[in-house]
Amino acid sequence: MLSIDTGFTTRALQDLVRINSVNPVLAPSAPGEREIAQYVGAAMETIGAEVRYHEPKPGRVSVVARLRGSRPGRSLMLNAHADTVDVAGMDAPFSGEVRDGRVYGRGAFDMKGGLAAMMGAVKALADAGCPHAGEILLAAVADEEHASLGTEDLVRRYRPDAAIVAEPTTLDICLAHKGFAWFEITTRGRAAHGSRFDLGIDANMRMGRVLAELETLERELRARAPHPLLGPPSLHAATLAGGSGLSTYAASSRLQIERRTIPGESRETVTDEIRRLLRRQVERDPSFEADLEVLLVREPFEVAADAAIVRALTEASTGVLGRRPAYVGQTPWMDAALLAAAGAESVVMGATGAGAHANEEWVELASVHQLAHCLAEAAVLYC
Ligand SMILES: [Zn+2]
Repeated sequence: MLSIDTGFTTRALQDLVRINSVNPVLAPSAPGEREIAQYVGAAMETIGAEVRYHEPKPGRVSVVARLRGSRPGRSLMLNAHADTVDVAGMDAPFSGEVRDGRVYGRGAFDMKGGLAAMMGAVKALADAGCPHAGEILLAAVADEEHASLGTEDLVRRYRPDAAIVAEPTTLDICLAHKGFAWFEITTRGRAAHGSRFDLGIDANMRMGRVLAELETLERELRARAPHPLLGPPSLHAATLAGGSGLSTYAASSRLQIERRTIPGESRETVTDEIRRLLRRQVERDPSFEADLEVLLVREPFEVAADAAIVRALTEASTGVLGRRPAYVGQTPWMDAALLAAAGAESVVMGATGAGAHANEEWVELASVHQLAHCLAEAAVLYC
């Protein structure tokens, strides 16, 4: 069995939390990922990994450390995002303090705990003289909390056979997550003085019809056969704006909706659903006018329980934890979908804790050490 340097892993986690890596798109004066990427790169160079930096946009830095194995084999990417959400409302966001076996601070749970565990895993492999075949790529990526610039850039540069994303899962193995699609619907009316019902066409009233139909669709979505790990798909009417003044008929009304998707659904199927709904309005009222715009689509993710990377991670974790981890699904979207779409057999496993995006965030230190051990053993089994 490999042995984890728990001192190194704990220090790495505390240092990572103490480095401000708030995503600058989410908080305009935030520093981005340069400093944290340099920290990870320097630590990985010290243990003998080859390190490369990638900067898809100025200040948005990802780092990839490569640890070659002792013979040819498969390549495995360990992937963690190095950015965090904002720290507004937090008492001591960069404390990195250990209390009762927990490390506190922004990102400790989501997901510097996972990143520190990946660093501990790579160090364990290096300390053992690289017993793995192929190569391990440790990737600390930029911008997952906004638009995934980092992983989108890396999947064009690297072609790993498999990937483990260390987003928090309380040491369970996550085989699926939801996707989402953002749509904007604009209904058209005709502006007129509020007294001139004979001239005005009310775009807001027209949007009301759309909303009523969307509510029916939403109920229908949640009555569909649920995904075994993720439940049913859903949608919500997220933002709504229409009209220009009290005494004016609204010339246009704009609605943004978010549709959460499950494996088996795609950009095409969910866009068609909305398009059909709008077409039905035109059939009922030929003067009805609306535009549909697809703003952003992130596909859902799913991997088979018998995929090689899942089997390796399950066997490794069962040995390390003394129990077989549960197979779970998670609702939020993750970079795993991008890695899977690029051809890497992907799975998600991370640490135990609480407070992602909340005012108090912590990760359980023991779970970070265990995760490091699971990842290192899985690397040897898989590669
Ligand atoms: Zn995350």
